[in-house]
Amino acid sequence: MVGVVEDDEGLAALRKIARHDLARLNYPAANWVPERTGPDAKRVLDVLVVGAGMCGQTVGYGLLREGIGNIRVIERETHGREGPWNTTARMPILRSPKHLTGPDLGVPSLTFRAWYEAQHGLGGWEKLYKIARLDWLKYLLWVREVVGLKVENGVGLLRVEPAGDLLRADLSTGETVHARKIVLANGRDGSGGFRWPSLPSFDPGNPIRRGRVFHTLEDIDFTTLVGRRIGILGVLATAIDNACTALEAGAAEAVCFARRPHLPQVNKSKGVSFPGFQRGQGMLDDDWRWKIYTYMLAAASPPPHESVLRGQKLKGFSFRFAEPWLDMIVDRDGVTVKTAKGTERFDTVLIGTGFDVDMSRVREIAAFATNIKLWADVRSSGEVKANAEAARYPYLGRGFELAERIPGRTPGLGNIHLFNWGSILSQGALAGDIPGLFVGATRLVQALSHALFTADIERHVQNMHAVEDPELAPTDYFVPRDKRVGTV
Ligand SMILES: Cc1cc2nc3c(=O)[nH]c(=O)nc-3n(C[C@H](O)[C@H](O)[C@H](O)COP(=O)(O)OP(=O)(O)OC[C@H]3O[C@@H](n4cnc5c(N)ncnc54)[C@H](O)[C@@H]3O)c2cc1C
Repeated sequence: MVGVVEDDEGLAALRKIARHDLARLNYPAANWVPERTGPDAKRVLDVLVVGAGMCGQTVGYGLLREGIGNIRVIERETHGREGPWNTTARMPILRSPKHLTGPDLGVPSLTFRAWYEAQHGLGGWEKLYKIARLDWLKYLLWVREVVGLKVENGVGLLRVEPAGDLLRADLSTGETVHARKIVLANGRDGSGGFRWPSLPSFDPGNPIRRGRVFHTLEDIDFTTLVGRRIGILGVLATAIDNACTALEAGAAEAVCFARRPHLPQVNKSKGVSFPGFQRGQGMLDDDWRWKIYTYMLAAASPPPHESVLRGQKLKGFSFRFAEPWLDMIVDRDGVTVKTAKGTERFDTVLIGTGFDVDMSRVREIAAFATNIKLWADVRSSGEVKANAEAARYPYLGRGFELAERIPGRTPGLGNIHLFNWGSILSQGALAGDIPGLFVGATRLVQALSHALFTADIERHVQNMHAVEDPELAPTDYFVPRDKRVGTV
């Protein structure tokens, strides 16, 4: 069962090694951030991390390594249901190659490879083709447990508002907490939400769609699709994996539609997955960053060949290219879809169009939404018109922090750090996919460390003056403080 960290002898031995490795790195580092008291007379959190998926837990672990220990990591789902792996992801294996690192933050005994070898030996590792989806989740939970990161499951962030130079956060538990920094590690949809097609007769908010039209990233009970004819809007990874899952569960037919004339052929993000690009992209000027990501967004990634092969082998699976949908009418018995080539009738429709980036849809930070600086604010109107999607991405600072469109209007905004897909235009793919995670989490943790330190510089300097360390006490040359000459 996922949700419990499964163990065996090999893993138990590896846990010991990993804990010893962490101890050798003096982990967790001693907390160095001075305490502050909030308006509620309680200690202010230094960082509230929202979301304990792959990104949030890695940031939490990074903060503990950095000596920023007064944090909370909250996760609205129950243990084992964080992220898509055990919920809405419907592929048997990860797309990524098995050797990727990231959640380990550079500790060899915390890598996926170490975790896998501990259970299956070197031979098993060599035989492994790609990482099984649920193994990735079990591995993440294992890392979390070994590094001793406390995650509060079942606790959601509802709303953030400014409170002087702090942020006030309302949690689903009814608590209100004050924090100096908030990290939104709230997932792929965390900078917007599901992308729904804009079709004249379709309203995703209309309850008539229930049981008839699903977004592929919603919970779907595939047993209800037995014998059905399914129309799928989209031909990329998630669309195909949902089509396959439906057919494997007994659906009669699954037809995937695309506007494009054929599948995208090249995964451009693979070509930029190396340290130079990962570290350097966020340091480039606006022109370069805009050029790179408008190209990337337009290019789209092909579905993994494993997903296409999975579909090809299934009876009832098909693609229909160059056939955009013009309208969709949902009724009690099914769905009528009008395409550029004709009219189709389906029992069920799955919308596989992914996520939108649109900060006005992020409910948790609605209080700040109208003043969040976007790429639209720094590009010409012609560029914005030609790249409407890219223009909606937030324009983040070097430490993933949101910036104000009109300075001074929404104090506190810059203390919210966006560590999710919405950061790609500003930073590159450092907060979502596995390959950039090490660079991204490290950069974010360093930025938080820097900001917390500089904000407290007067206290740190006072402490520097006051610090007393009787290094020479055991010798004949020790001079008590009140007898010393000069600054020491
Ligand atoms: C189907 C699918 C397959 C993927 N396959 C790959 C792959 O093979 N390789 C790869 O590199 N990447 C892959 N990705 C991309 C990426 O690795 C994953 O999306 C990964 O889960 C990103 O981690 P995350 O921490 O950003 O988000 P998530 O894992 O989604 O975690 C975010 C967490 O935040 C929580 N949360 C959200 N809002 C709140 C709130 N208000 N309060 C409290 N908690 C909240 C959510 O419950 C969630 O658990 C895939 C993504 C998907 C969707």
